[in-house]
Formats: sequence, C-alpha cells, structure tokens
Amino acid sequence: MHWIIHYDIAACVILLIVAILFFTKKSYPDNSTKIFKYLLISAFLSAVFDIVSAYSCYAAETGKIPIWLSCIVSVIYFISLNMIPVCYYLYILFVTQNGEITVVEKYLAIGVVVIELLLICSSPFTGFIFRYTKSGVYERGIGLYLLYGMALFVLINCLMMTIKFRYMLSVEQRNAVYFYSVASIMVVIYQMYNERLLLTNFACTISLLLMYLSIQNPGEYVENDIKTLNQKAFIKMCRMNVKGGRPFTIVAFELDGFKYINEVLGVSNGKDLIASVADFLHKNFQKKKIFHLSGIRFALITSRNNAEEIVEKINKRFSSPWDVSGVDVVLTPHICLAKYPDHVNTIEEIMYAIDYSIQEAVENTFNNVVYVNREFLNKKNRETRIEHIIKNAMENDSFQVYYQPIYDVKAKSFSSAEALVRMTDEEMGIIFPDEFIPIAEKTGSIIKLGEIVFDKVCRFLNSEDSLRLGIQFVEVNLSVVQCMQEDLAGRLLEIMDYYQIDYSRINLEITETANFGNNEILVNNMNTLIDKGITFSMDDYGTGFSTTNYLIELPFRIVKIDKSIVWAAMDDSKALKILKYTVAMLRSLELKIVAEGVETLEQADILKRMGCNYLQGYYYSRPVTEKEYIDFLQEPPL
Ligand code: C2E
Ligand code: CA
Ligand code: CA
Repeated sequence: MHWIIHYDIAACVILLIVAILFFTKKSYPDNSTKIFKYLLISAFLSAVFDIVSAYSCYAAETGKIPIWLSCIVSVIYFISLNMIPVCYYLYILFVTQNGEITVVEKYLAIGVVVIELLLICSSPFTGFIFRYTKSGVYERGIGLYLLYGMALFVLINCLMMTIKFRYMLSVEQRNAVYFYSVASIMVVIYQMYNERLLLTNFACTISLLLMYLSIQNPGEYVENDIKTLNQKAFIKMCRMNVKGGRPFTIVAFELDGFKYINEVLGVSNGKDLIASVADFLHKNFQKKKIFHLSGIRFALITSRNNAEEIVEKINKRFSSPWDVSGVDVVLTPHICLAKYPDHVNTIEEIMYAIDYSIQEAVENTFNNVVYVNREFLNKKNRETRIEHIIKNAMENDSFQVYYQPIYDVKAKSFSSAEALVRMTDEEMGIIFPDEFIPIAEKTGSIIKLGEIVFDKVCRFLNSEDSLRLGIQFVEVNLSVVQCMQEDLAGRLLEIMDYYQIDYSRINLEITETANFGNNEILVNNMNTLIDKGITFSMDDYGTGFSTTNYLIELPFRIVKIDKSIVWAAMDDSKALKILKYTVAMLRSLELKIVAEGVETLEQADILKRMGCNYLQGYYYSRPVTEKEYIDFLQEPPL
C-alpha cells in the first residue's frame, strides 16, 4: 500500500519547533507541564515512526528488510500513537483539576495503557492489530478498530471533562482544548475508513501548537529577564498545595532601601540588582520554588522543615553589601514566614498575610522577620474591616459626636465639654475611638474624619440650644497627623467662619507624643490659631515622653492630666505626692488643669483640694449624645 506522508512531514517540522520552544524556555514546574512533555514526545515519535513505518512496510514487502524489523517499527509507531490520547486525557485532567486526579481517573488511564500495550506488543504474533500475510503483504487487523474505539472513548471523555470544568480555563484555552478534542475525534473516525492519507499526526500537531500557545505558554508564568517564576505561578503553586492539602511554608521578603537605588543609581542598575538577588536565590534554593511576586518582593515555597534555615541564609547574604556597578549597597530584607495549614488556610489569606506581615516587618525596627500567626491575621482582618467601616461612615455621614461635660471647679458649673467621636457598625456594634482612630491615622482618613467631627461640633456650637445654655467652649481632639498638615489652621478657621463661631469657643486637644515629627508645621498651625483666639490643651499629660519640653516649646493654655495618673494617685501615697507637685508646678506656669477619669466623689474632692481647675469623668457624666448633653445642662446634677 502507498501511504501519503506529506502531512506527517509537516507535523514533524512543527512539533520540532514546539519542542525546541518548550525545552529551551523555563516553564511552570507542575504535573501538567510534565504530561505536556510526554504528549509532545509521543506526538513526535508517532509522526516520525508513521513515516518510518510507511517505508519499512514497503521495504519489508519488497524483501529489502526483514519482516521482524518492520514489525518493531510498527509496534513503536502504534504505541506512540496510542499514548497520545492517554497523555492528552491526563493533561486535561491536570489542567482542569489543578494537578489533582482521582483514583478512578488514574486507573482508567492505566487500564487503557495496559490493554493497548498488550494488544500492540502481541500483534506481531497474533496479527490482531496488523500482520504480514504469508506472501509478505502488510494488512490491518481487526483489533485496529478496537484501538480506534478506545482512542475515541478516551477523547470523548476528555471533551466531557473540558465541558464539565470549563470555568477552570480561559476562553482561548477552552477553544484550544475543544478544537483538539473535536479534531482528534473526527480524524480518528476519518482514519478508520481512509487509511492511505496519514492525517492523524498533523491534526494532533496543530492542536498541540494551539495548546502550547494558549495553556502551556511559559511566558505566562515566568519573568524572562530574571528567569524566575512570577506571582501567577506562585498563586498557582499555593493553590495546588492547598487543594491537595499538602503542608508548606512560605518565606516572602521585600527589599528595603531600593527606592534609593532607583533614584540615585538609576532604574537600569535597580533592575540589575533585582537580577542579582534572583541569581543568589537560584544558586541557594530550589529553582522551581522561587518566585518574584512584584518589583522588590520575592517568595520561596518549601515543603520541608527548613524555613528557618532559608531565613538565616537570606539574612546572612543581606548582611553584606551588594555590588551595583562598583557601588556597595546595603539592603535590608523584611521577611515574613507563613505556614500552611497552621497559620493560613486559603490562597486569599496567604496573599493577605504576606502583604500585612511584610508591612509589619517594615514597621518593626527590632526584628526584620515576622511570623504570621492566627492572632496576627485576626487582628489584621479586624483592622481591614474597620478601615471599610470608617470609609462607609464617611460616605454615609454616620459618625456621631458625643459630649462629655467638664466640671468647672471655680464656677461650679459645666461650662465646657469634650467632643468624642463614635462609630457604630451593624455587625460589629459600637467601635471605640481608641481602636479606630489609630487605624484612621495609619490610612490617612483621620484628616477628613477630623474635619467631619470639627464641623459637627461647630454646627452644634452655633445652635440655639448651645448658645442659650451658655456652653463656653468645647474641647476637640486633634490627631498628630492632622497637626502635621500645613493647611490645618486654614481649614479649621474656614469651618468656624462658616458657622460664625466665636474662636474662643474652641479648644483643641493635642496628645503629647514622641513623634511630633515636623514640629515647625505644628507650631505654625498653633500660632495661627492662637492669634485668632483659639486655645490649646495638652492631652494625656504624664503618659508621654518629653512632656516638660513640649510645655516650654508649645503655647498651651490647658493641661489635661491623664486618668492613669489620677487613678494611680488614689491608690498610692507616692503617686499622690507626685500628682500634688505636678499640679502645683503646672499652676505656677499659669496653666489651667483638667483632671480626667474622675469616677468618685472622693476623687473629685481630692483633686479639687489639690487645685485642679476642671474635672472630667464618669462621676459627673459619661460621654453622651448631643441631645442628652442638652438635657444634662438643663438639669445639672449639682
Ligand atoms: P481622650 O482624649 O483621653 O478622651 C478621654 C477618654 O476617656 C474618652 O474615651 C472617655 O470616654 C474616657 N473617659 C472619660 N472619663 C472617664 C472615666 O471617668 N473613666 C473611664 N474609664 N474613662 C473615662 P473615648 O471616648 O473612648 O476616646 C478614646 C480616645 O480616642 C480619646 O482619648 C482620644 O484620644 C480619641 N478620640 C476620641 N474622639 C476623637 C476625635 O474626634 N478625634 C481624635 N483625633 N481622637 C479622638
Ligand atoms: Ca482628649
Ligand atoms: Ca485624655
């Protein structure tokens, strides 16, 4: 018989090109890549041996080579040809099920392979698949149809699998797989009836090419310039391990000091440095498990118990400088370590944990390594939720301002109050400012929030009730972040002017803190506002750092002694003495004193005797709503 082999030759050429691309480029190291490799090898062998067997049959028929040799060629051809649908079946399973297959699927594949191998290898003796007649002519055996049938069975299974798990693939990937399945089924049927034109391998090759481009394309998972797997590959590998329930540890790190390199030494040097870091990782750790997550962030995955060792090696390397075009640069890695399933359970949690713990490592000046744990994640989860709640509260204008009346000892009246912000969430209930103010400060939303509170206070001060009840002033808390805004004074004056508030009716509280940072801006803001007649209180006196310094440097009129200092004095005679002298000292500086946290009559009496000007605390009133505050002032508990 004369076979037409042109398509086989074309198939060989295309497969060769795909094979060169596949084997020379770094690809994602998973089971589907492994199977794709076998698929390529089977297809290539099948195309080559299709051609060789066409010639060997002819040579055997004409007596140029012995029949047994031709039989061996045919056996190799049939084996490689029939391995293609099986490899393809496994490939589809791995791709659609993230590298996992069930026992049934596994045994189905093994069963098909065993039956096919038995049928093919025994064929030279049984003549079931092919045989040579006594006169030396090659003939197809009846068993060939059985092989075709099995191939069809496997291919139809693949098609069904693709339809079932279609959501696991992108549109192009899906189309490539559909094309492969349908084309192969049609070609198998065609080949059953038409044996002269050898089309199978060509159809299979075109499909493989499409599949290579759409699914197996290594560019999708690899960063070519530094030959490292990317974030997509990282997510894929984590997902596979999570699905398979295989424990693993992630060591992720971010490079500190990189901004300087890009700015001072140039972006191209920055890129070289990233490549050097990748190179160091490649030389020291398992190549398949190194990922470049983003600009200055890398991650390693290890399934062994050697995460601490990895951290140690990274720290050791970074303790010496990196050479960037002749300049020695020192970089600090901020490292996080997360264990699955001990600390993280889902891929979302993994990405989230990396983000947050690296941030934590950056903020932590004492240790550059952060171990992710449940408690930490829960805290971060809550923080993120609160961040959202703050954002929503701003959009919906649902912040409330409560007022805590302050007792004026000399006037024996409640002539002022402190404004305290409140936020409630349907699910989480009331969230106290001690928790959400630091979060708002971190995210910067405190600036807007501070203005919202200030606006509400001014509107209240402008109301008929407040004027009628003789509220002299309200103390409004300012965050350090607000104080560092150059336009703070201007913004506050604008709001007061809008409500036509007498400037003396506002007192601003600033907490003494070590990080006043850019003090000049704060002083400018204070001076601008003081010139207009606004006064300032130093809040939480006694809890901070260089308190006296601030009292000398900054123009405060009131000092609020922190409740912890007040409470300590009530329990301990030494602390009482300190408080006594503090009050005397502050009075000698002509500062007014507010004692916070007054909870009992006894405390109030002691503080009055000491000479405190104002008293604030639950003994008089808790912070209350605007309406309750008005009611309170109408009938003060005196
Ligand atoms: P703070 O400025 O020291 O406010 C006083 C806090 O002590 C208030 O807590 C108040 O409810 C509480 N307190 C008052 N008297 C007593 C008492 O007798 N016993 C006890 N145990 N507690 C008392 P709150 O309202 O939870 O506020 C906490 C902190 O949140 C405030 O501390 C302040 O630093 C901050 N904050 C509140 N509102 C704002 C605001 O609008 N802006 C800014 N930046 N910070 C605010
Ligand atoms: Ca305060
Ligand atoms: Ca306070």
